Amino acid sequence: MELARRITEIEPSVTLAISALAKAMQQDGKDICSFSAGEPDFDTPEHIKAAAKQALDLGKTRYGAAAGEPHLRQAIATKLQRDNGLNYNAANILVTNGGKHSLYNLMVTLINPGDEVIIPAPFWLSYPEMVKLVDGIPVIVPTDSSTGYKITPAALDAAITPKTKLFILNSPSNPSGVVYTRAELQALAKVVVDRDILVVSDEIYEKIVYDGVEQVSIGALGEDIFQRTIISSGFAKAYAMTGWRIGYLAAPLALIQAASTLQGHSTSNVCTFAQYGAIAALEGSQDCVETMRQAFVVRRQAIVERLEAIPGLSCAKPDGAFYIFVNIASTQLNSLEFCQQLLEQQQVATIPGLPFGADDHIRISYATDLTTIEKGMDRLTKFMRSRL
Ligand code: PLP
Repeated sequence: MELARRITEIEPSVTLAISALAKAMQQDGKDICSFSAGEPDFDTPEHIKAAAKQALDLGKTRYGAAAGEPHLRQAIATKLQRDNGLNYNAANILVTNGGKHSLYNLMVTLINPGDEVIIPAPFWLSYPEMVKLVDGIPVIVPTDSSTGYKITPAALDAAITPKTKLFILNSPSNPSGVVYTRAELQALAKVVVDRDILVVSDEIYEKIVYDGVEQVSIGALGEDIFQRTIISSGFAKAYAMTGWRIGYLAAPLALIQAASTLQGHSTSNVCTFAQYGAIAALEGSQDCVETMRQAFVVRRQAIVERLEAIPGLSCAKPDGAFYIFVNIASTQLNSLEFCQQLLEQQQVATIPGLPFGADDHIRISYATDLTTIEKGMDRLTKFMRSRL
């Protein structure tokens, strides 16, 4: 069977594949320490689950508006005003099947064949694939530890051509954990406005920041940049709702109306009763978000201390999300070899940096308990010693 060209040109998700392999090994009785998860290891808070159960009992089981339940769209707009200083109304919000779907809908709605999309590396691995799926051209701008893995305004400016349509910004970042400061965002916003391009700000990790670091939304930095900003976010990471599949886009009206038409002809509305859980997440107590963040604070401290003590590895302490991006260049292994050997020899699952645009790094997720962290770091230490 001849498949469409667009699907043969994209890579399968390596993160999902490695997580699946580690889970399969676990089911075979192997004692795996997994640092591959891209999701909080907590259950969804009770009051959120209760709201979805109640919605089921109340018969919220039918088709809803394609763009989302009006109550949820309003709750998201209110949250964006309150927490992020973004002046949106309910009509500016599209409820989507997770943050992944909101970004994909954005690409379909915005990108014409041949349009260029600027993506700083390391990047979340789905960005370039989504751009390719709509025949856009991903323009990768490498960054390294010398700029703290952040794209500079000069590098952004240099990457812009007459074909550039969109710049993808992810702060806090998966995989590097980097969080851009207000001043850095102001400088990037100036380039976006001066060169008249658009920016999508993927803020899905916004609630998971450390040491008093401020998460700033680039769209809140002035009216000019606000008009050129699209926000993509969701409930998965802050509320431990990965399986619920609820995300959203916030953007100028014309874009949301167009993306809503797309959704009307593709997925229709997100699961109706699940949306009532999301309403409870936004309107209920935010203590659960802080409780989970505190757990990540402790784990981050534990894992960074252990990693810093392992000769041959280096990493920066992340300011946000729940990942550490570890430089493995000294081992002379590429990231796939490193991850495979570590899994086979020490039963430790990590994610290769290659699909994130950095083959001399691996990603370690610390969305796991402290016992696994200690055991896994013991094994990683052994693995590195065996290579000396
Ligand atoms: N954006 C980033 C940077 C992510 O890491 C993820 C998930 O891992 C997503 C978006 C999509 O999240 P979801 O589709 O689960 O809401």
